[in-house]
Amino acid sequence: MLKLLIATRNGGKVREYKELLKKYQFDIYTLKDFPHYIEPAEDQDSFEKNALVKAQHAADALNILTLADDSGLVVPALQGQPGIYSRRFAKENATDAENRNKLKTLLKNLQDSERNAYFACSIALCQPGKCLKIVVGQCEGELLLEERGTQGFGYDPLFLKYDYNKTFGELDQDTKNRVSHRRKALDKLDNILSNLSETASCAS
Ligand code: IMP
Repeated sequence: MLKLLIATRNGGKVREYKELLKKYQFDIYTLKDFPHYIEPAEDQDSFEKNALVKAQHAADALNILTLADDSGLVVPALQGQPGIYSRRFAKENATDAENRNKLKTLLKNLQDSERNAYFACSIALCQPGKCLKIVVGQCEGELLLEERGTQGFGYDPLFLKYDYNKTFGELDQDTKNRVSHRRKALDKLDNILSNLSETASCAS
């Protein structure tokens, strides 16, 4: 089986990708399998560029086919915050709860109609020395002032998916994985991932 690295140490992302990639024949690794690997700085000005830096750096350093995701929550009424700073919104190395608290404080100053938001996800798929493709996906919703649910990670308990009237913190993982920004981006890699995993399993 072909080895595929998901270049993240985020447990929430790992859980979702392991499920989302189940239909392919990959031997899945994450950065938890490479504890000595030092990730590059995420200092680019877009999700796409950060995803590319993360994927290409890990692919080259660890010599393995790599998928990296840069994602976050975008609130248009807050000038796009937290955006590419979603993981470190409250401060460097902030916990998810600290980031949500900062967001809740800012949301209190907005009108109800200004609490629309979307999750954005860019995924880069790179081989050592070569980026194969970069894709994007979005998922629209509305932010609540109070958290609901304990599933998921990050901003999930504040993100209401209107069509289900539940937050991502209340939806089970299968449902989130059917509608999420991550799923929509990953669908655009379906051909290439199918070809890679089928070619490798025919060769072995
Ligand atoms: P990254 O690891 O630099 O891509 O930062 C991702 C951050 O965006 C996470 O730490 C979360 O705060 C947020 N985020 C991304 N995707 C999701 C999601 O599916 N649910 C909730 N928060 C998310």
